[in-house]
Amino acid sequence: MALLSTRRARAAHRRLPRPALRRPLRAVRPPRVSAVVPCYNEADGLATLHQRLSASCQAVVGNDYEIILVNDGSADTTWSIICALCQDDPQTVGIDLSRNFGHQHALTAGLSRARGELVFMLDADLQDPPELLSPLLERIRDGADIAYGRRRLRHGESWFKKTTAFLYYRLLDRLTDTRIPLDAGDFRLMTRRSVDHLLAMPEHDRFMRGMTAWIGFRQDPVDYDRAERNTGATGYPLGKMLRLAMTGIIGFSDRPLRMAIHLALFCALLAVGILCYAVGSWLLGYAHRGWLSTIGSILFVGAGAFFFIGMLGQYIAQIHRQVQSRPLFIIRELRRHDGID
Ligand code: UDP
Ligand code: MG
Repeated sequence: MALLSTRRARAAHRRLPRPALRRPLRAVRPPRVSAVVPCYNEADGLATLHQRLSASCQAVVGNDYEIILVNDGSADTTWSIICALCQDDPQTVGIDLSRNFGHQHALTAGLSRARGELVFMLDADLQDPPELLSPLLERIRDGADIAYGRRRLRHGESWFKKTTAFLYYRLLDRLTDTRIPLDAGDFRLMTRRSVDHLLAMPEHDRFMRGMTAWIGFRQDPVDYDRAERNTGATGYPLGKMLRLAMTGIIGFSDRPLRMAIHLALFCALLAVGILCYAVGSWLLGYAHRGWLSTIGSILFVGAGAFFFIGMLGQYIAQIHRQVQSRPLFIIRELRRHDGID
């Protein structure tokens, strides 16, 4: 009977349109916790991650958990290691994306297949300690919907990365009305309802820490010291980091667009002042020379204009991607012990 109803539910589920973001199958009993880990070229550290994460989940919820490892188009043996882990451990789920979609999309892919009542998101490189699950869960038990890790110290990261991250979070805070927590990444524990709200947001350019903050509900921090990367190299070189930073600003602030209007007003006032001065000096009988200052001010105004045209281009590109409505990710293969997608 149970088998029949599962089969029927599965058939009904198959008939549904399959948007990239969907709620997991309801006929299956959800585990208490789903841990979602995006992995990009993480072959060397996966076994340690799996072992520490399993131990941490077991300590908190017994066997009532699943670990979802998302391979984001890695160039190394990450996927074959994930397959081996799935084979040995029925609580591990493997998702192989069709190519590298980027951290935020890989995380979204994992969330879309997570069945847990609570969802724990963390990086594969052990910079976010899996053992923090217990204090994060405490916050949820206290009544929070989202408990997030707030970085106190960041070990093993360059001076440049620490400083730019510090300045960026503060700049973003000034630019946006959404209260995005300072010094927090995507390391958090969320209730099912908050994850469902996150998955219902169809935006293509995803800045998950901003989107999570935007949802609302009670969100509590847990302070921690960010460890050094366990093995391997960062998957966030400067270019990717800048793109994510831009996505955050464009997704959560229209102030850069309004700044152009303020600058235009300022330039107009300046131009009127200069015109008055030029007419006055002509009336008073001394010719005003100084082509250097003229060229200088033209260049200055030109640079401002180009900056805002560029900014406008970024917003339009984001709108364009949204209008294209392409799926956020494509799953090549999913491995789960019950075989149900
Ligand atoms: N990651 C990913 N796709 C990418 C880049 C990174 O799934 O294109 C994963 C990576 O494996 C890690 C997490 O995202 O689990 C954070 O990346 P990383 O540790 O390289 O970033 P950093 O901590 O250096 O900012
Ligand atoms: Mg890292």
